[in-house]
Amino acid sequence: MRLHVWGRLALASVLLALGLAAAQPLSGQGTAFSPALPLTHVENGPNSARAQGQHYVVLVSLDGFRWDYAKREKASHLLALGKQGVWAPDGMVPSYPSLTFPNHFSIVTGLYPEHHGLVANSFFDPARQARYAISDSQAVSDGTWYTGTPLWSLAESQGMRTACILWPGSEAQISGFRPSYYATFDSKTEATPAAQQARIDDAVALLSLPIADRPHFITIYYSEPDHEGHQFGPDAPETRAAELKVDALVGKLKAALDATGLPINLVVVSDHGMIHVDSGWITLDQIADLTGFDVSGSLLYGKTEEDRARVYNQLKKASSQFVVYRLKDVPASLNFNQNPREGDPVVVATGPYAIRAHVPPAGRQDSPPIPGMHGLDPARIPEMKASFFAAGPDIVEGKTVAPFGNVNLYPWLAHLLGLTAPSSDGSLNVLAGTLRDGGAEPDEKLGK
Ligand SMILES: [Zn+2]
Repeated sequence: MRLHVWGRLALASVLLALGLAAAQPLSGQGTAFSPALPLTHVENGPNSARAQGQHYVVLVSLDGFRWDYAKREKASHLLALGKQGVWAPDGMVPSYPSLTFPNHFSIVTGLYPEHHGLVANSFFDPARQARYAISDSQAVSDGTWYTGTPLWSLAESQGMRTACILWPGSEAQISGFRPSYYATFDSKTEATPAAQQARIDDAVALLSLPIADRPHFITIYYSEPDHEGHQFGPDAPETRAAELKVDALVGKLKAALDATGLPINLVVVSDHGMIHVDSGWITLDQIADLTGFDVSGSLLYGKTEEDRARVYNQLKKASSQFVVYRLKDVPASLNFNQNPREGDPVVVATGPYAIRAHVPPAGRQDSPPIPGMHGLDPARIPEMKASFFAAGPDIVEGKTVAPFGNVNLYPWLAHLLGLTAPSSDGSLNVLAGTLRDGGAEPDEKLGK
């Protein structure tokens, strides 16, 4: 009750700070909430009584924030967060391929890319005879491309409200639900200071809503320092400045969350790392005859067994910069041998090499690879490893964790929220030692 009253006061002050004297009610329950970054509100009903009693999780992703950046830059806010709670000083291991959409969706579903369906940022689906691309807003918001139950859908299905202030996949209805609040990605304004600050303001405003409407699980996504890492390389001054910029945003967010007085577990992760490209383009159709293939980047979709076998044989011993497998023979450690969206044969780079199927079509300019890349096998190329920092009332203090696969975050985050998680590729055992309750089953759990 005290929190309830305090929440209303905080909301009033946030709205005042934003100069929103005449805020529009967003829900039918008289809630005055006018977000700084426009949010779409989905009426999923109020939090259940049991959900209202749960603690909060704010999950932040810093795209391309390599595992060693925080130490390298002496990123004071991230390092302080890790010191207050837990962190992975040697990194968190992304799922293969170490790309943005596949890994964001692995984090929130606990599934490897081939199980949740986003096997790359862009791919072809031979069964649908259709393409998915992160630049295609229609595909991105079409839930039929996605498998698994993202944490927001899991929470909503168990009577708990959620908000995605950007997260790959959050603009689609998946597993029957959308987040109660979600933002739509805009690449033009995404990294402007106003839009970056707005994510923090929105999170605080949402946490100031009356307890019945207040989301318990909030995601926030920042596209930096990935952008700079690609354009200038992981060691460039521009990239290093972007690392400190997002560290400062984490500091602001942490202070703002602390000021709410709510029991919030703050979890900051990244999707993958970054490495300097060490080759010009390796163009596969200059080595193999790709006639009759659909392609997407370096993914190859042969239509007949004859075609697939031919290209496999032509690529097999062609280069030390990649290995090629028939789909079913891709090593189990990559978790990349079961989904037709992965293509057949499958080309896996052995180092930071830029591989593509074709040169751009006539009329489109061909330019050399940009300096920074990711997407590689993290077991071969440790620069692919991601970051993990977390602190809050349910997390032990001052502990480090050894590198772990990011699919293990799903059961851990579900546990923090008191949700019953479906089985996934992750295990609660991996991070149980970071939890004050050791991962023990509570007497009562949502969804049970
Ligand atoms: Zn990237």
